[in-house]
Amino acid sequence: MTDEQFETAMPTAAENWDASPAVVHSGGQNTALVVVDMQNDFGHPDGSLFVSGGDSIVGAINDEIERTAAGGGTVVVTQDWHPASTPHFIDDGGVWPTHCVAGTWGAELMDGLDPNRRATAVIRKGTNGEDGYSAFAMREPGGDVDIPTGLAGLLRERGIERVVVCGLATDVCVAATATSAAESGFDTIVLWDAARPVYPDDETETRVLGELRAAGVEVIGAPS
Ligand SMILES: [Zn+2]
Repeated sequence: MTDEQFETAMPTAAENWDASPAVVHSGGQNTALVVVDMQNDFGHPDGSLFVSGGDSIVGAINDEIERTAAGGGTVVVTQDWHPASTPHFIDDGGVWPTHCVAGTWGAELMDGLDPNRRATAVIRKGTNGEDGYSAFAMREPGGDVDIPTGLAGLLRERGIERVVVCGLATDVCVAATATSAAESGFDTIVLWDAARPVYPDDETETRVLGELRAAGVEVIGAPS
């Protein structure tokens, strides 16, 4: 974590914070909190791929960050980090509007995230034009080979057994990251109230919950 990466992430958006105490978990030294893609393009209303409500979960996530750090756990922040042109984007044959281009405002972490700088690592994904849904592995668009990001190794080096996932977006990168974590052998939890979906419809919610539970992921705060 460099100072440069956090120069624009000092707390200035307190009025947007959701003070809801609904998210509760207790971590320890063997717990890692993975904060997925809390970047301007996803979480700021002016972002190119704004996820509705993405700006309302900064406070809940910061609470989890502090709780994890207080318990001696590890906090990891991820960033979608794309080249300007990639088959991941609609303009180049993909499915998403251009977002999180490396070095742009849209790719920066949101103002107010992790004000006390507890995160010890930043994992960037999609850096070479891959789809970067999971924080654990990237994949060439249309390809079938996963390219590890190094996150699993980092967590194992630190003796992590339990991975808690929150951030944006529930139905895309949060779900992919949690599924990868479970498949990698970690006890995995998703904090439903500290995440928001691209598609907030019931059908998507049911599908995502089903996929997470089928992968063995515990979902805290989800509708039953
Ligand atoms: Zn992306």
